[in-house]
Amino acid sequence: MATSDHVDLERFIAGVEKRNSGQPEFVQAVREVAEDIFDFIADKAPYHEYQILRRIAEPDRVMSFRVCWEDDRGNIRVQRGWRVQNNNAIGPYKGGIRFHPSVTESVLKFLAFEQTFKNALTGLPMGGGKGGSNFNPKGKSDHEVMRFCQSFMTELYRHIGADTDVPAGDIGVGGREIGYMFGQYKRITNEFTGVLTGKGLEYGGSLIRTEATGYGCVYFLQNMLKNVGDSVDGKTIVVSGSGNVATHAAEKAVQLGGKVLTLSDSEGFIYDPAGIDQTKIDWIKELKNKRRGRISEYAREFKGSEFHGDGARPWGVACDVALPCATQNELNGSEAKILVANGVMAVSEGANMPTDLDGVHVFKQAQILYAPGKAANAGGVAVSGLEMSQNSARISWKEADLQQHLLDIMAGIHERCVEYGGRPGSTTIDYVRGANIAGFKKVADAMLAYGVV
Ligand code: NDP
Repeated sequence: MATSDHVDLERFIAGVEKRNSGQPEFVQAVREVAEDIFDFIADKAPYHEYQILRRIAEPDRVMSFRVCWEDDRGNIRVQRGWRVQNNNAIGPYKGGIRFHPSVTESVLKFLAFEQTFKNALTGLPMGGGKGGSNFNPKGKSDHEVMRFCQSFMTELYRHIGADTDVPAGDIGVGGREIGYMFGQYKRITNEFTGVLTGKGLEYGGSLIRTEATGYGCVYFLQNMLKNVGDSVDGKTIVVSGSGNVATHAAEKAVQLGGKVLTLSDSEGFIYDPAGIDQTKIDWIKELKNKRRGRISEYAREFKGSEFHGDGARPWGVACDVALPCATQNELNGSEAKILVANGVMAVSEGANMPTDLDGVHVFKQAQILYAPGKAANAGGVAVSGLEMSQNSARISWKEADLQQHLLDIMAGIHERCVEYGGRPGSTTIDYVRGANIAGFKKVADAMLAYGVV
């Protein structure tokens, strides 16, 4: 990047920081994209004239609302809910709902911003949005979760719609929560429409939606490895998280011949030198989805495995491949250096922005195969897009067809990253740059077509 462009970039980021003070995650996400886009648009006057990047980095709107609910002891509890509608240039707003105590407006704005590029990369007509609440579903009874979801939807329903904004699940929001929210939406509006995705199969859900993000993350890894004449078979793989994305990423990695060594939750990680096979993954799914237990229980169940507590993260375990599938900023610069020193050859992000900016720079410099979440975890929203199509047409596609769509979509995203991610003087692909530019270009060109709106 030329020095003058670098000065412009820093001035732009200073403006983003000023306008979004106290929102570090959002500023971080904008910086990560802007570092590539400034270079790309340097000689493209219309993007400057129409202030495209500045406009994408300002959400169309942010709704914030109070959510009251009653716990099982009769106490009235008050939470905050949000929906961030970032950009609908190429389709209705689309993006998950997160329930976690760490949720803030900054976190949701970063996720909605990232979602805008991710959705564009899928090739499907979806804009970017995200929502959620600081509600913590952990330790709550089913009825408490139901009452919270109903109260949340009683406000959210007025902002969403099958052609307006279509939320889905995310951290803390799985099939149970989507069911409660869809039920309340249907009750309030008296309409049965595809307003949420990730629904149960009995009421309009799509086959393979549950698996799609984790599977897609490993398909992306497979594409990166194939591009350099390699495969997943025989690779040692470190995975973080033990939720929807992590368990399905582990499952697909095992199916393709990989050896999964770790999984984690917010309390720590388990290391199983014998490998976490399908039987063990099924046990974890049951632990997390039904018993709602902790990953530490794994070490008591499976002999020879270890639990490392106090919130320890698995990045010190030597591996060929790392799949961060828990949450944002769970892998920092020093951890990235340890992974590289231990010989990691590929990182494919199942979570959104799990690697902090220092870590991203370490991976880029080491020129390993590094896929950012907006490319590697797009399989989930892609199948959500297919769920929307099925709902609109009032049909259900077969599993084999959907599997093929997912494979094709992930291969398409990989191709788009390769197209824009070449490095001058290098044969390796900069997937971060490729994903940022390919996603940006599609949204930006639609915005140019609309003029200033
Ligand atoms: P889940 O709620 O199913 O699982 C989240 C996992 O991450 C849990 O194991 C959780 O542990 C762990 N985790 C959450 N917060 C932290 C933290 N602060 N520190 C350490 N571990 C943590 O969520 P998903 O699997 O659906 O989502 C995981 C990631 O993937 C998120 O970044 C999400 O945005 C992203 N993603 C999800 C998609 C989907 O389809 N579900 C689509 C695209 C991206 P614990 O139980 O202890 O909290």
